[in-house]
Amino acid sequence: MAKLPILRCFVDGQWVSTRKRFPDINPVNGETVAQVCEADSALVERAVQAARAARQGQWASLSANERAAVLHRIADGIEQRFDDFVAAEVLDTGRPTQLARTLDVPRGIANFRTFANLIATAGSEMYESTSADGARVINYVNRKPLGTVAVIAPWNLPLLLLTWKVAPALAMGNCVVAKPSEETPSSATLLAAVIQRAGVPHGVFNLVHGHGPGSAGEFLSTSPDIDAITFTGESRTGTNIMKAAAEGVKNVSFELGGKNAAVVFADADFDAAVDGVMRSSFSNSGQVCLCSERVYVERPIYARFMAALQRRCEQLVVGYPNDPDVDMGPLISQAHREKVLSYYALAREEGATVICGGGVPLFGDERDQGAYVQPTILAGLPDTARCVREEIFGPVCHVAPFDTEEEVIARVNDSPYGLAACIWSTQLSRAHRVAGRLETGIVWVNTWFTRDLRTPFGGTGLSGIGREGGRHSLDFYSELSTVCIRL
Ligand code: NAD
Repeated sequence: MAKLPILRCFVDGQWVSTRKRFPDINPVNGETVAQVCEADSALVERAVQAARAARQGQWASLSANERAAVLHRIADGIEQRFDDFVAAEVLDTGRPTQLARTLDVPRGIANFRTFANLIATAGSEMYESTSADGARVINYVNRKPLGTVAVIAPWNLPLLLLTWKVAPALAMGNCVVAKPSEETPSSATLLAAVIQRAGVPHGVFNLVHGHGPGSAGEFLSTSPDIDAITFTGESRTGTNIMKAAAEGVKNVSFELGGKNAAVVFADADFDAAVDGVMRSSFSNSGQVCLCSERVYVERPIYARFMAALQRRCEQLVVGYPNDPDVDMGPLISQAHREKVLSYYALAREEGATVICGGGVPLFGDERDQGAYVQPTILAGLPDTARCVREEIFGPVCHVAPFDTEEEVIARVNDSPYGLAACIWSTQLSRAHRVAGRLETGIVWVNTWFTRDLRTPFGGTGLSGIGREGGRHSLDFYSELSTVCIRL
């Protein structure tokens, strides 16, 4: 049997092997594809101290243009190893290769370029005022790095979401200790190699592998010497990390779960809406925090819409990631499959009609050892059902009719989450009116998953705290300090 690759931690500019290892499993067939070095508390602390020491070094004192140049070199490095990054993402997640080629890796590159350009052009705030004794005073704002930032990332868009935090943190002159998900260690390890080659000073970027509770995630979030925690993942994990952050009054930025709604009005462009809901419900096997798991369709078109959605859902090709015809790969893991299947079972107990799917596809080959589930459409549940209120994070949506604009706004907003929503309508004034009343961090109108990286991103309620994106990221990753000068 071929020797498995070993994925090491990267601390203080050195690759570090550990005795304790855990397997990196390919969810297509359940095979172990690599052994991952798990950081113990001592190694995590070494990474934190390396980052603290590097804060005193040259990194934070480089000019914005110099740091921007380094970020562009990191982006160049990802571009040069584009195929390796695609292979790493596909091996860890089983997602269609085409998705990794068109979304994950390009967005990883774009994150570094966007924040490089942003810091190179960011101006400073300045105001002129008059003091009580009539003297002129100028006031300006200095941006300083926060210090040592812990980046804790999930598995669903591994490179995209890790770089979404690492790029602005480095851009602002911080030092970083990053922990990718235990399910997806590969692209993060490649990223550390690219960052090393780009000439980032020792200790400025550190990577520790491991799990959450009782492992690297907990050790990192409870370290007294980090200054901020930026986290993407489940709302429950966010609660635990927030408790840890309370101890030292640490800055936190949380991008958490969602139970997002798509609203299809009868005046919508019908085919575009069906296409859009297919994408927003089933992309990446429904494992995007922004996926629509609740679909509300205005009653006059409900039956026709449901029939079209069912037809399209039944045509989805589930299979090998490298098959160009494939639409959907497996879920991330057997454990996550158990969770999604338990919701499929719960939906039946709660009285749902299973319009299509609802089980596990049978391939008759190695994929039966993988983590596949069928794309599923449910109907007939009340809004109070657990399957309509709780995040499932799989290829599943519940479709329900509605009668009035007021009613659907209330139903969309009746959720502990508030991440994203989609409106499908050709009436301009209605789209603006409804968008303004939905209590979510982002509302898409006649589209999904497109966003200028300079806009704020984040959620309300259980979906998170704070906004990142563009200058909002610069604000989170910096301490602002005001200087007032009497002229
Ligand atoms: P998760 O919360 O289980 O894990 C995320 C990360 O946190 C992992 O690296 C994990 O090891 C670590 N972790 C777990 N417990 C920890 C603890 N007690 N202390 C410190 N670290 C800990 O989430 P997941 O299953 O990897 O990702 C899926 C979830 O992420 C979904 O809920 C999804 O909606 C959410 N998500 C949100 C966004 C967003 O932008 N709002 C984006 C992507 C995913």
